[in-house]
Amino acid sequence: MSNDIKDFAIATLGSHTALQILKGAKEEGIKAIAICTKETRRPYDSFDVADEIIEIDSFENFFEIEKILMEKNAIVIPHGSFVSYLGPQKINDNLKAMHYGSKGILIWESDRSMERVWLQDAGLNLPRIYQTPEEIDGPVIIKFHGAKGGFGYFIAHSPAEFHERIKSFKDPDDYVIQEYIVGVPMYVHYFQSALTGELEIMSFDKRYESNADSIGRIAAKDQLDAGIQTSYTITGNIPIVVRESMLPMFFKIGEDVVAASKKLEGAPKGLYGPFCLEGIIDPNLNFRVFEISARIVAGTNPYTNGSPYTWLKYNEPMSTGRRVAREIKTAIQSGRLQDILG
Ligand code: AMP
Repeated sequence: MSNDIKDFAIATLGSHTALQILKGAKEEGIKAIAICTKETRRPYDSFDVADEIIEIDSFENFFEIEKILMEKNAIVIPHGSFVSYLGPQKINDNLKAMHYGSKGILIWESDRSMERVWLQDAGLNLPRIYQTPEEIDGPVIIKFHGAKGGFGYFIAHSPAEFHERIKSFKDPDDYVIQEYIVGVPMYVHYFQSALTGELEIMSFDKRYESNADSIGRIAAKDQLDAGIQTSYTITGNIPIVVRESMLPMFFKIGEDVVAASKKLEGAPKGLYGPFCLEGIIDPNLNFRVFEISARIVAGTNPYTNGSPYTWLKYNEPMSTGRRVAREIKTAIQSGRLQDILG
Protein backbone atom coordinates (compact mmCIF):
# COMPACT_ATOMS: atom_id res chain seq x y z
CA MET A 1 0.00 0.00 0.00
CA SER A 2 1.10 3.55 -0.83
CA ASN A 3 2.91 5.72 1.73
CA ASP A 4 1.73 8.90 0.00
CA ILE A 5 -1.20 10.74 1.58
CA LYS A 6 -2.10 12.09 -1.89
CA ASP A 7 -3.32 8.58 -2.74
CA PHE A 8 -5.96 8.67 0.04
CA ALA A 9 -9.01 10.64 1.09
CA ILE A 10 -10.98 11.15 4.29
CA ALA A 11 -14.77 10.87 3.95
CA THR A 12 -17.68 11.38 6.30
CA LEU A 13 -21.41 12.08 6.27
CA GLY A 14 -22.21 15.82 6.17
CA SER A 15 -23.65 16.08 9.69
CA HIS A 16 -22.68 15.97 13.40
CA THR A 17 -18.90 16.77 13.45
CA ALA A 18 -18.20 16.74 9.71
CA LEU A 19 -17.09 20.40 9.55
CA GLN A 20 -14.06 19.84 11.80
CA ILE A 21 -13.31 16.35 10.40
CA LEU A 22 -13.18 17.72 6.83
CA LYS A 23 -11.30 20.88 7.74
CA GLY A 24 -8.85 18.76 9.77
CA ALA A 25 -8.25 16.48 6.78
CA LYS A 26 -7.49 19.46 4.54
CA GLU A 27 -5.17 20.97 7.14
CA GLU A 28 -3.18 17.73 7.17
CA GLY A 29 -3.05 17.68 3.36
CA ILE A 30 -5.53 14.84 2.84
CA LYS A 31 -8.41 15.10 0.37
CA ALA A 32 -11.72 15.73 2.19
CA ILE A 33 -14.98 14.22 0.90
CA ALA A 34 -18.39 15.12 2.34
CA ILE A 35 -21.37 12.88 1.68
CA CYS A 36 -24.47 15.07 1.80
CA THR A 37 -28.09 15.19 0.79
CA LYS A 38 -29.53 18.08 -1.19
CA GLU A 39 -31.09 19.38 2.02
CA THR A 40 -27.94 19.14 4.16
CA ARG A 41 -25.11 20.32 1.86
CA ARG A 42 -25.44 24.08 2.42
CA PRO A 43 -23.03 24.41 5.42
CA TYR A 44 -20.37 22.25 3.72
CA ASP A 45 -20.52 24.46 0.63
CA SER A 46 -20.60 27.67 2.62
CA PHE A 47 -17.73 26.89 5.01
CA ASP A 48 -15.70 25.43 2.13
CA VAL A 49 -14.41 22.49 4.16
CA ALA A 50 -14.68 19.77 1.49
CA ASP A 51 -12.62 19.13 -1.63
CA GLU A 52 -15.54 17.15 -2.98
CA ILE A 53 -19.21 16.74 -2.08
CA ILE A 54 -21.00 13.54 -3.09
CA GLU A 55 -24.77 13.88 -3.01
CA ILE A 56 -27.09 11.03 -2.06
CA ASP A 57 -30.89 11.01 -1.67
CA SER A 58 -30.80 10.11 1.99
CA PHE A 59 -28.11 9.12 4.52
CA GLU A 60 -29.59 5.61 4.72
CA ASN A 61 -28.52 5.16 1.05
CA PHE A 62 -24.85 5.44 2.02
CA PHE A 63 -24.01 1.97 0.72
CA GLU A 64 -24.99 3.02 -2.84
CA ILE A 65 -21.90 5.22 -3.06
CA GLU A 66 -19.55 3.01 -1.07
CA LYS A 67 -17.89 1.72 -4.26
CA ILE A 68 -17.03 5.29 -5.31
CA LEU A 69 -15.39 5.83 -1.92
CA MET A 70 -13.40 2.63 -2.27
CA GLU A 71 -12.13 3.67 -5.71
CA LYS A 72 -10.89 6.91 -4.15
CA ASN A 73 -9.14 5.05 -1.29
CA ALA A 74 -11.32 6.97 1.15
CA ILE A 75 -11.07 6.30 4.87
CA VAL A 76 -14.51 6.70 6.43
CA ILE A 77 -14.73 8.49 9.81
CA PRO A 78 -17.69 7.36 11.95
CA HIS A 79 -19.57 9.97 13.99
CA GLY A 80 -22.88 10.07 15.86
CA SER A 81 -25.06 10.56 12.77
CA PHE A 82 -23.13 7.93 10.80
CA VAL A 83 -23.70 5.32 13.52
CA SER A 84 -27.31 6.38 13.98
CA TYR A 85 -28.29 6.34 10.25
CA LEU A 86 -26.42 3.18 9.27
CA GLY A 87 -26.66 1.24 12.54
CA PRO A 88 -23.66 -0.31 14.32
CA GLN A 89 -24.49 -3.85 13.20
CA LYS A 90 -24.65 -2.89 9.51
CA ILE A 91 -21.39 -0.96 9.82
CA ASN A 92 -19.78 -4.00 11.42
CA ASP A 93 -21.20 -6.58 8.99
CA ASN A 94 -21.47 -4.74 5.65
CA LEU A 95 -19.05 -1.82 5.45
CA LYS A 96 -16.23 -2.64 3.03
CA ALA A 97 -14.66 0.80 2.66
CA MET A 98 -11.73 1.60 4.96
CA HIS A 99 -13.09 2.56 8.39
CA TYR A 100 -11.17 4.52 11.04
CA GLY A 101 -11.59 2.87 14.46
CA SER A 102 -12.92 -0.43 15.82
CA LYS A 103 -16.26 -1.35 14.25
CA GLY A 104 -16.98 -3.88 17.01
CA ILE A 105 -16.68 -1.15 19.65
CA LEU A 106 -19.59 0.72 18.04
CA ILE A 107 -21.84 -2.26 18.87
CA TRP A 108 -20.74 -2.10 22.53
CA GLU A 109 -21.27 1.64 22.89
CA SER A 110 -24.68 1.62 21.19
CA ASP A 111 -26.27 -0.81 23.65
CA ARG A 112 -26.95 0.50 27.16
CA SER A 113 -26.62 -2.93 28.80
CA MET A 114 -23.41 -3.84 26.99
CA GLU A 115 -21.72 -0.50 27.65
CA ARG A 116 -22.60 -0.89 31.35
CA VAL A 117 -20.77 -4.22 31.53
CA TRP A 118 -17.71 -2.60 29.94
CA LEU A 119 -17.71 0.50 32.16
CA GLN A 120 -18.31 -1.54 35.30
CA ASP A 121 -15.39 -3.77 34.40
CA ALA A 122 -13.28 -0.60 34.06
CA GLY A 123 -14.16 0.24 37.69
CA LEU A 124 -16.18 3.39 36.93
CA ASN A 125 -18.70 4.87 39.33
CA LEU A 126 -22.04 4.35 37.52
CA PRO A 127 -25.53 5.49 38.56
CA ARG A 128 -27.67 2.72 40.02
CA ILE A 129 -30.12 0.97 37.67
CA TYR A 130 -33.53 0.08 39.11
CA GLN A 131 -34.81 -3.26 37.83
CA THR A 132 -38.48 -2.49 38.56
CA PRO A 133 -40.46 0.75 39.15
CA GLU A 134 -41.46 -0.57 42.58
CA GLU A 135 -37.85 -0.19 43.80
CA ILE A 136 -37.84 3.59 43.19
CA ASP A 137 -36.84 5.22 46.49
CA GLY A 138 -35.35 8.54 45.35
CA PRO A 139 -35.01 10.68 42.22
CA VAL A 140 -34.70 8.63 39.02
CA ILE A 141 -34.41 9.48 35.34
CA ILE A 142 -36.32 7.34 32.85
CA LYS A 143 -34.54 7.00 29.50
CA PHE A 144 -36.07 5.49 26.38
CA HIS A 145 -33.94 3.32 24.13
CA GLY A 146 -33.17 4.94 20.81
CA ALA A 147 -34.39 8.31 22.13
CA LYS A 148 -32.67 10.86 19.91
CA GLY A 149 -30.91 13.64 21.79
CA GLY A 150 -32.49 13.00 25.18
CA PHE A 151 -36.06 13.78 24.02
CA GLY A 152 -38.86 12.38 26.18
CA TYR A 153 -36.78 11.48 29.26
CA PHE A 154 -38.59 12.16 32.50
CA ILE A 155 -37.88 12.31 36.22
CA ALA A 156 -39.82 10.49 38.93
CA HIS A 157 -39.47 10.11 42.70
CA SER A 158 -41.78 7.24 43.56
CA PRO A 159 -43.43 4.17 41.98
CA ALA A 160 -46.76 6.06 41.87
CA GLU A 161 -45.27 9.03 40.02
CA PHE A 162 -43.52 6.68 37.60
CA HIS A 163 -46.76 4.84 36.73
CA GLU A 164 -48.63 8.12 36.27
CA ARG A 165 -46.07 9.61 33.87
CA ILE A 166 -45.27 6.47 31.86
CA LYS A 167 -48.92 6.35 30.73
CA SER A 168 -48.37 9.04 28.12
CA PHE A 169 -45.74 6.98 26.26
CA LYS A 170 -46.62 4.63 23.40
CA ASP A 171 -43.93 2.00 23.84
CA PRO A 172 -43.46 1.91 27.60
CA ASP A 173 -41.42 -1.34 27.74
CA ASP A 174 -38.39 0.12 26.08
CA TYR A 175 -36.80 2.14 28.90
CA VAL A 176 -34.25 2.10 31.68
CA ILE A 177 -34.74 3.55 35.18
CA GLN A 178 -31.52 5.19 36.35
CA GLU A 179 -30.64 6.92 39.60
CA TYR A 180 -30.82 10.70 39.00
CA ILE A 181 -27.51 12.28 40.03
CA VAL A 182 -27.71 15.81 41.35
CA GLY A 183 -24.60 17.69 40.28
CA VAL A 184 -23.17 19.23 37.12
CA PRO A 185 -22.98 17.51 33.73
CA MET A 186 -19.47 16.94 32.39
CA TYR A 187 -18.39 15.37 29.09
CA VAL A 188 -14.70 14.42 28.72
CA HIS A 189 -13.29 14.15 25.21
CA TYR A 190 -10.34 11.81 24.77
CA PHE A 191 -8.10 10.63 21.97
CA GLN A 192 -6.41 7.25 22.26
CA SER A 193 -3.59 6.84 19.75
CA ALA A 194 -3.32 3.34 18.29
CA LEU A 195 0.14 4.27 17.00
CA THR A 196 1.78 5.48 20.22
CA GLY A 197 -0.54 3.94 22.84
CA GLU A 198 -0.92 7.34 24.50
CA LEU A 199 -4.21 8.66 25.89
CA GLU A 200 -4.76 12.39 25.35
CA ILE A 201 -7.38 14.68 26.88
CA MET A 202 -8.70 16.88 24.07
CA SER A 203 -11.40 18.98 25.75
CA PHE A 204 -14.56 19.09 27.89
CA ASP A 205 -18.08 20.33 27.31
CA LYS A 206 -21.56 20.36 28.68
CA ARG A 207 -24.70 20.29 26.61
CA TYR A 208 -27.26 23.01 26.19
CA GLU A 209 -30.50 21.13 26.67
CA SER A 210 -34.08 22.23 26.10
CA ASN A 211 -35.88 22.77 28.34
CA ALA A 212 -33.68 21.56 31.25
CA ASP A 213 -31.24 24.46 30.87
CA SER A 214 -33.86 27.18 31.09
CA ILE A 215 -36.20 25.92 33.78
CA GLY A 216 -34.15 27.80 36.38
CA ARG A 217 -35.15 31.07 34.69
CA ILE A 218 -38.62 30.87 36.16
CA ALA A 219 -39.62 30.51 39.80
CA ALA A 220 -40.48 27.06 41.18
CA LYS A 221 -44.08 28.17 41.79
CA ASP A 222 -44.48 29.23 38.13
CA GLN A 223 -43.00 25.91 36.99
CA LEU A 224 -45.59 24.06 39.04
CA ASP A 225 -48.46 26.32 37.96
CA ALA A 226 -47.56 25.88 34.29
CA GLY A 227 -47.17 22.10 34.73
CA ILE A 228 -43.73 22.20 33.10
CA GLN A 229 -42.02 18.84 32.64
CA THR A 230 -38.28 18.57 32.17
CA SER A 231 -36.85 17.35 28.86
CA TYR A 232 -33.21 17.04 27.74
CA THR A 233 -33.28 17.75 24.01
CA ILE A 234 -29.78 18.72 22.89
CA THR A 235 -29.51 22.01 21.04
CA GLY A 236 -25.79 22.78 21.30
CA ASN A 237 -22.57 22.41 23.30
CA ILE A 238 -20.83 24.71 25.75
CA PRO A 239 -17.05 24.55 26.39
CA ILE A 240 -15.71 23.86 29.89
CA VAL A 241 -12.27 24.04 31.48
CA VAL A 242 -12.18 21.77 34.54
CA ARG A 243 -10.72 22.32 37.96
CA GLU A 244 -7.09 21.36 37.36
CA SER A 245 -6.83 19.01 40.35
CA MET A 246 -9.44 16.78 38.69
CA LEU A 247 -7.28 16.09 35.64
CA PRO A 248 -5.37 13.10 37.15
CA MET A 249 -8.73 11.41 37.80
CA PHE A 250 -9.90 12.05 34.23
CA PHE A 251 -6.67 10.59 32.81
CA LYS A 252 -6.96 7.52 35.04
CA ILE A 253 -10.55 6.64 34.16
CA GLY A 254 -9.86 7.19 30.44
CA GLU A 255 -6.95 4.77 30.64
CA ASP A 256 -9.01 2.26 32.64
CA VAL A 257 -11.76 2.33 29.99
CA VAL A 258 -9.21 1.75 27.21
CA ALA A 259 -7.60 -1.12 29.16
CA ALA A 260 -11.00 -2.76 29.78
CA SER A 261 -11.87 -2.43 26.06
CA LYS A 262 -9.09 -4.85 25.14
CA LYS A 263 -11.18 -7.68 26.57
CA LEU A 264 -14.38 -6.87 24.66
CA GLU A 265 -15.60 -9.60 22.33
CA GLY A 266 -15.74 -8.67 18.65
CA ALA A 267 -13.34 -5.75 19.03
CA PRO A 268 -9.86 -7.28 18.92
CA LYS A 269 -7.97 -3.96 18.84
CA GLY A 270 -10.06 -2.46 21.62
CA LEU A 271 -10.96 1.23 21.81
CA TYR A 272 -8.84 3.80 19.99
CA GLY A 273 -9.35 7.17 18.32
CA PRO A 274 -11.67 9.82 19.78
CA PHE A 275 -14.12 8.86 22.52
CA CYS A 276 -16.08 10.53 25.29
CA LEU A 277 -17.20 9.72 28.83
CA GLU A 278 -20.44 11.41 29.79
CA GLY A 279 -21.53 11.92 33.35
CA ILE A 280 -22.34 14.12 36.29
CA ILE A 281 -19.90 15.44 38.90
CA ASP A 282 -21.56 15.40 42.30
CA PRO A 283 -20.71 17.87 45.10
CA ASN A 284 -18.15 15.38 46.51
CA LEU A 285 -16.36 15.49 43.14
CA ASN A 286 -17.31 11.93 42.23
CA PHE A 287 -17.64 11.51 38.45
CA ARG A 288 -20.78 9.41 37.95
CA VAL A 289 -20.58 8.15 34.35
CA PHE A 290 -23.83 7.33 32.57
CA GLU A 291 -22.60 6.82 29.02
CA ILE A 292 -19.66 6.31 26.67
CA SER A 293 -19.43 7.38 23.04
CA ALA A 294 -16.71 5.40 21.30
CA ARG A 295 -16.25 7.86 18.42
CA ILE A 296 -15.96 11.63 17.95
CA VAL A 297 -18.68 13.55 19.83
CA ALA A 298 -20.42 16.82 18.97
CA GLY A 299 -19.09 18.27 22.23
CA THR A 300 -15.75 18.77 20.43
CA ASN A 301 -17.39 21.16 17.93
CA PRO A 302 -16.64 24.35 19.92
CA TYR A 303 -12.95 23.58 19.40
CA THR A 304 -12.43 23.78 15.61
CA ASN A 305 -9.39 25.89 16.47
CA GLY A 306 -8.29 23.64 19.35
CA SER A 307 -9.03 23.69 23.08
CA PRO A 308 -6.95 25.07 25.98
CA TYR A 309 -5.67 21.50 26.46
CA THR A 310 -4.71 20.82 22.84
CA TRP A 311 -3.00 24.22 22.79
CA LEU A 312 -0.84 23.08 25.73
CA LYS A 313 0.10 19.87 23.98
CA TYR A 314 0.41 20.89 20.34
CA ASN A 315 1.21 24.61 20.19
CA GLU A 316 -0.87 24.77 17.03
CA PRO A 317 -4.63 24.61 16.37
CA MET A 318 -5.70 20.99 16.87
CA SER A 319 -9.37 20.07 16.67
CA THR A 320 -10.34 16.47 17.34
CA GLY A 321 -11.10 16.18 13.62
CA ARG A 322 -7.58 17.32 12.78
CA ARG A 323 -6.12 14.95 15.39
CA VAL A 324 -7.86 12.07 13.60
CA ALA A 325 -6.44 13.24 10.25
CA ARG A 326 -2.97 13.57 11.76
CA GLU A 327 -3.15 9.99 13.08
CA ILE A 328 -4.21 8.77 9.64
CA LYS A 329 -1.42 10.75 7.97
CA THR A 330 1.21 9.36 10.37
CA ALA A 331 -0.12 5.83 9.85
CA ILE A 332 -0.01 6.13 6.03
CA GLN A 333 3.48 7.62 6.01
CA SER A 334 4.90 5.00 8.38
CA GLY A 335 3.24 2.07 6.60
CA ARG A 336 0.97 1.35 9.59
CA LEU A 337 -2.46 2.08 8.11
CA GLN A 338 -3.74 -1.40 9.04
CA ASP A 339 -3.12 -0.59 12.72
CA ILE A 340 -5.77 2.13 12.73
CA LEU A 341 -8.43 0.54 10.52
CA GLY A 342 -11.14 -1.56 12.11
P1 AMP B 1 -28.09 10.84 27.67
O1 AMP B 1 -29.07 10.74 26.53
O2 AMP B 1 -27.95 9.56 28.43
O3 AMP B 1 -26.77 11.39 27.19
O4 AMP B 1 -28.67 11.94 28.71
C1 AMP B 1 -29.16 13.21 28.30
C2 AMP B 1 -29.10 14.21 29.44
O5 AMP B 1 -29.87 13.76 30.56
C3 AMP B 1 -27.72 14.44 30.01
O6 AMP B 1 -26.98 15.37 29.29
C4 AMP B 1 -28.00 14.90 31.43
O7 AMP B 1 -28.32 16.27 31.46
C5 AMP B 1 -29.23 14.12 31.79
N1 AMP B 1 -28.90 12.88 32.51
C6 AMP B 1 -28.74 11.66 31.95
N2 AMP B 1 -28.53 10.72 32.91
C7 AMP B 1 -28.54 11.35 34.10
C8 AMP B 1 -28.40 10.92 35.46
N3 AMP B 1 -28.20 9.64 35.76
N4 AMP B 1 -28.49 11.86 36.43
C9 AMP B 1 -28.71 13.16 36.11
N5 AMP B 1 -28.88 13.62 34.86
C10 AMP B 1 -28.80 12.74 33.85
